[in-house]
Amino acid sequence: MKVFKFGGASVNSVERIRNLARIMQACPADRIMVIISAMGKTTNALEKVAESFYEGNKTEALSLFDAVKQQHLTTARELLSSGYESCASRLQDFFTEVEWLLHDQPVRDYDYYYDQIVCVGELLSTAIISASLNETGISNTWLDVRDIFRTDDDFRDAGIDWAFTLAKVKEQVEPLFDKTPVIITQGFIGATDENESTTLGREGSDYSAAVFANMLDAESQTIWKDVESVMNADPKQFPDAVALPELNYKEVIEMAYYGAQVIHPKTIKPLQNKGIPLYVKCFLDPTLPGTVIHNQPIPPLPPVIVLKENQVLVEMSSRDFSFIGEQHVGHLYHLFEQLHIRPNLTQNGAISFLCVLDNRPEKVEKLALAAAEFLDIQVKKDLSLLTVRHYSEEKLKELTGQRQLLLKQQTRETIQLLLD
Ligand code: ASP
Ligand code: MG
Repeated sequence: MKVFKFGGASVNSVERIRNLARIMQACPADRIMVIISAMGKTTNALEKVAESFYEGNKTEALSLFDAVKQQHLTTARELLSSGYESCASRLQDFFTEVEWLLHDQPVRDYDYYYDQIVCVGELLSTAIISASLNETGISNTWLDVRDIFRTDDDFRDAGIDWAFTLAKVKEQVEPLFDKTPVIITQGFIGATDENESTTLGREGSDYSAAVFANMLDAESQTIWKDVESVMNADPKQFPDAVALPELNYKEVIEMAYYGAQVIHPKTIKPLQNKGIPLYVKCFLDPTLPGTVIHNQPIPPLPPVIVLKENQVLVEMSSRDFSFIGEQHVGHLYHLFEQLHIRPNLTQNGAISFLCVLDNRPEKVEKLALAAAEFLDIQVKKDLSLLTVRHYSEEKLKELTGQRQLLLKQQTRETIQLLLD
């Protein structure tokens, strides 16, 4: 069996959903587990609903949510004929759940409400697409992944309970393939042991698909994207970016770690652990070869470039010339963990510790405030972090030009430059 993952862009219109059906039709003999994201920018829209609700703007939250509702009902109406009524009633159940919540007063953490609201995006998209595929003759079963993916209650960044989820996959998912060759379910979401919905972190559907691939011992996973293949740089930033037809797990996990927006960084481990190849294919033209990611040796790669803008350098120094030793560093990492901060670069000196972070003002502020209790803090904003793997001096010169270099870290494979 195979695992397919379709992202938001691949299902953002009626035409694209029909295109998804054509892709599915082209593999009639296969058993396929299909993981689908929320349609288009639905997750962003639902985030706005959650924010309004939490700020106490109930009317605004309800009206923002109504826009999401109407959009989905319109899509369902356009796609479906005989299946519309039963699909609409399933959608209505999801709408009602959210609306009930929006009528309450927030009494718990924001992240809890975020997950209860945002998870509905994938439930709606999969309900519509499953019904539509069934009408087109692609016989499939719709599955609520919250009955399968058990997570902890770290809302917005939930961790999967591997043993529990694996048992569910074996008991409840595998037998479904005897009923229909295709199973449709959601990426990105799960549930706690108290049946509260959780999300696994933005763009987490790639990871959900990889968890299924691992647990179902899939022969491959395919991620359908709007790009031709994985590239050596973001073509929006670097128009001369080139396609990478073949990569290995190690390269991709490194690229994702440094911030390349190719595949969710957690995706690789479950695939690597079972040696399952990952294909990145273009849903706009499935005949293109795309990229294959596996465990085998690969030809030499061109420089692989990741440019992160809007970076903040936080410099923390001791006040009395005492060394920044294990205790300070331990304390700082404890703060990172508490605040869910993952520095993009850190460097330790005798009496100072430097870290480069994405500019999330509320987090940077909290970190600075907490660290100011024992260190002096300086913050510099609007910086760029350039990471290049397989670099050459020539390429670095071309990339950095006249920009001022603030910090540099380098191994044989990877160089990171913080630029003003
Ligand atoms: N819909 C979620 C997001 O936009 C998850 C995903 O697409 O992977 O982040
Ligand atoms: Mg997405």
